[in-house]
Amino acid sequence: MKRLNNTKAKQSVLQCFEETQFAVALSELTEILDGKMNRTTLYRILDKLEEIDVIHSIQARNGKKYFARNCKHNGENHSHLHFECSECGRIKCIVTPVNIPPVPNYRIHSSRILIVGKCDLC
Ligand SMILES: [Zn+2]
Ligand SMILES: [Zn+2]
Repeated sequence: MKRLNNTKAKQSVLQCFEETQFAVALSELTEILDGKMNRTTLYRILDKLEEIDVIHSIQARNGKKYFARNCKHNGENHSHLHFECSECGRIKCIVTPVNIPPVPNYRIHSSRILIVGKCDLC
């Protein structure tokens, strides 16, 4: 199969996020994009997209890495919750902004909050 050029590769990666309301596991991405680009290219694109704030990564309880599109309404000072379904393992961004309480004398750069439960499909 013909490998995609950089722009097309980036578009294919972003396309993976359009088709689902859930966060996409790294393993799913490699599966969907298998043959279209090599893993090094995929990792490089994901790194870049994360760096320019187009996507963010989430670590599930089992250590698996997931990626999701950034919500346009998320200000830099806001954090959002991630929901992990204990039945199917799906991860979803809960876009309601959460204000992180200040910790005296500490500077907070980012926060990762994972809530666990049962999703609407289970
Ligand atoms: Zn579920
Ligand atoms: Zn998220």
